[in-house]
Amino acid sequence: MAGIQIERVGKRFGGALALDSVSLDVADGEFVALLGPSGCGKTTLLRIVAGLETRSSGAVRIGGRDVSDLRPADRGLAMVFQNYAVFPHMTVFDNVAFGLRMQKKPREDIERKVRRAAALLQIEPYLDRYPAKLSGGQRQRVAVARALAVEPAVLLMDEPLSNLDALLRLEMRAELKSVLREAKTTTLYVTHDQTEAMGLADRIAVMQQGRIVQADAPTTVYSRPASTFVGGFVGSPPMNFVKVTASGRSARLDALDLRPPADGDLLLGFRGEDVQLVPPDEGMTFVVKVAEPMGSHLLLTGSAAGCPVRVVAPPTASVHAGDRLGLRPDPDRIAWMSQDSGLALD
Ligand code: ATP
Repeated sequence: MAGIQIERVGKRFGGALALDSVSLDVADGEFVALLGPSGCGKTTLLRIVAGLETRSSGAVRIGGRDVSDLRPADRGLAMVFQNYAVFPHMTVFDNVAFGLRMQKKPREDIERKVRRAAALLQIEPYLDRYPAKLSGGQRQRVAVARALAVEPAVLLMDEPLSNLDALLRLEMRAELKSVLREAKTTTLYVTHDQTEAMGLADRIAVMQQGRIVQADAPTTVYSRPASTFVGGFVGSPPMNFVKVTASGRSARLDALDLRPPADGDLLLGFRGEDVQLVPPDEGMTFVVKVAEPMGSHLLLTGSAAGCPVRVVAPPTASVHAGDRLGLRPDPDRIAWMSQDSGLALD
């Protein structure tokens, strides 16, 4: 068993609080993505788990063992960090073989595992080269191959695909997902890219200003965000939030009747694709400012009830800038929030 338990970990840099009592359990074999905007504390948390950064408070356990005060090499994990330190004086082959040689694996074993990791990361053609003769993206893949080659029980990764172009990134994402799932590797993965987190993770832990504000399955984070911050950060376009005031558990927006779970000043949260386009007198009035044909869909940007709204319409929809439409959000997919706290109501 090799789960990771992060228990009330706090970190101060001088007077600044970078992590505020963060707790997170990553189950054995689970893939958890730490997702959040720049500066929210993702890298600091990962570095504390790795033992590369000291904590101010709290504890880290790996496989049930308190590793808080152990050196990185003694924590029983492999890691790939943003600045992908590959050894410049070793060939790609020797770089990928490094951990296996440290483990004193037999030669044939090393050869087989290096070839397998290299094939996965598409770096076979460069096995004899030195890192100086590689592009940034190729070097990054060497670092990932080196970590995977040892088949670690626990793997920490910080933006390991950040230097790859879009297509390769997509391919590597799928490869990583299948290999880590097959090997049941417990993985904690830092990214600020929400599509990467959605695609890869069993659970996404969304961070905001040094705290985890939601840790759930990707579909839950997407459709049931815990706050306006999460709804706005996860998903592209971000979730829409329209102000409404409810009394007697009912509210009206233009021609749309709503049944909110509470009274007072609320936000009606809905995804741009969870909405039906209807004639203007049958829904909330949406004024289109821009219509962008995206190929797979038509992205409409405009406003409803004085709030900015984006709608994902079918690619063939005949909608133009200046049009007035009615919107009917799917009642089963509405996320109600409090205007005061920005937190979900149900
Ligand atoms: P990014 O995606 O930009 O890497 P992040 O979410 O990983 O951001 P961290 O790098 O963990 O964020 O930084 C969290 C906070 O701690 C930031 O406010 C950052 O400025 C601060 N910080 C990080 N490292 C140090 C350091 N060595 N000394 C002082 N402050 C630091």
